[in-house]
Amino acid sequence: MNSSKLAGLNKVPEHKTLSCRLNNLAITVEKEGSSHFTKAGYPRRFGFYSEIRTSEYEFHFNLNGDIKFIRGLNINWPHPSEWLKRTDGNDWGYYTVGSVLNHKGILDWFGEYYLPCLTYPSNSIWEYNPYTDAKILPAFAAWSQLYAKLYSTGCDDIPSGIRDFVSLIIQKDENTLHAQSKKLHAIIGGRVSVLPPDTRHVDYEVIPLNIADGCLYHCKFCCVKSGESYQPRSMDNVLSQIKQLKAFYGRNIENYNALFLGNHDALGAGEELICTAAAEAFGVFGFEYANMKKPMLFIFGSVGSLLKAGNGLFEKLNRLPFYTLINIGLESVDAHTLAAINKPLKVSAIHEAFIKMLQINREYDNLEVTANFLLGDRLLPDHTLSLIELLKNVPDASGKKGAIYLSPLIDSPKKGELLNSFFEIKKMSRLPAYIYLIQRL
Ligand code: SF4
Repeated sequence: MNSSKLAGLNKVPEHKTLSCRLNNLAITVEKEGSSHFTKAGYPRRFGFYSEIRTSEYEFHFNLNGDIKFIRGLNINWPHPSEWLKRTDGNDWGYYTVGSVLNHKGILDWFGEYYLPCLTYPSNSIWEYNPYTDAKILPAFAAWSQLYAKLYSTGCDDIPSGIRDFVSLIIQKDENTLHAQSKKLHAIIGGRVSVLPPDTRHVDYEVIPLNIADGCLYHCKFCCVKSGESYQPRSMDNVLSQIKQLKAFYGRNIENYNALFLGNHDALGAGEELICTAAAEAFGVFGFEYANMKKPMLFIFGSVGSLLKAGNGLFEKLNRLPFYTLINIGLESVDAHTLAAINKPLKVSAIHEAFIKMLQINREYDNLEVTANFLLGDRLLPDHTLSLIELLKNVPDASGKKGAIYLSPLIDSPKKGELLNSFFEIKKMSRLPAYIYLIQRL
């Protein structure tokens, strides 16, 4: 099975923007958003999408008619630049511009203008549940009302392109969207429990493809591990997932340009599986002609898989038509902390992996390795001191490649105070440093 047999988009998709009014609804289909994921402090939409506006809300839908964004337009909405977003995993999150914490805005500690507030337990440093906010809750009711209205309204007098779009939406009720997310998880063999922090660069809009299950270490602190022992998937399984994913994403696949090779340590799956999976997915998913430019590949790796990987793998990855970001869990450079969190690694291995990360970032234009370290008030003081020592002595920081992510422990009781510790580390680091927010798909 190869990409020619699993034909993807083989030409630039065509779009025709149409608008009309249907009772008090202003409907526009196939609106063009930005073709590049850029960071901005105001609502930006990416790729092609459709919109329905009422006097109170703006609803955005993807090309399959799935509800994707809701933004309030009335004075009760917390902030005109904030919105609700639904993921392919059927989770809602609220994108807030936030408040100033420790005299710093979200951009300073998260690297983005927005902080996604999640509706499931995570390691967020700023706890805020939109489902309990009386200003946001009516948006969900408004979506139900809009759905009911579209369902019961005759569409005979509107242009056929808009009629088709409305009929797509009314096929996507709550139960259907839920079943859809279950199907996605069934294709890849389970929910993605955590996305790499670097996927923030594409607003977490990735197509997941699992090429290996389990992980090498079963660290005590980890809230995302599967418990399985490490096992790469077979090539047939990976190719079958690609075929099913192409069918699953339907027409909306043209809005994707990013692939996540899962699960927790895809880097250890070996050169052939990694590179074949990425190249096949690129062709089958039609990334060359996608609405979004600059294809991106995201991979998690462990210390062991990074140290084992030879130059051949990195040279091949560097030649793929992606900009590839590999995120490695280093966790700590303090021996006692590593022992306390049950990470069966020596400090020397962490140092070696860190040096290899810097070397890869210097040598390969299309590759970037980033690293995660822990942040927690229960960690030993030597954890922070040794980390600062490591980051302040980076010999040739480019200032651009190789971000450091600090991941708050999920059960830290004083999450707000962790920011002090984070800024202490960030101030001394010669590499860019950000907080890691665990998000699932
Ligand atoms: S931190 Fe990484 S290696 Fe450790 S248990 Fe979690 S997923 Fe596995």
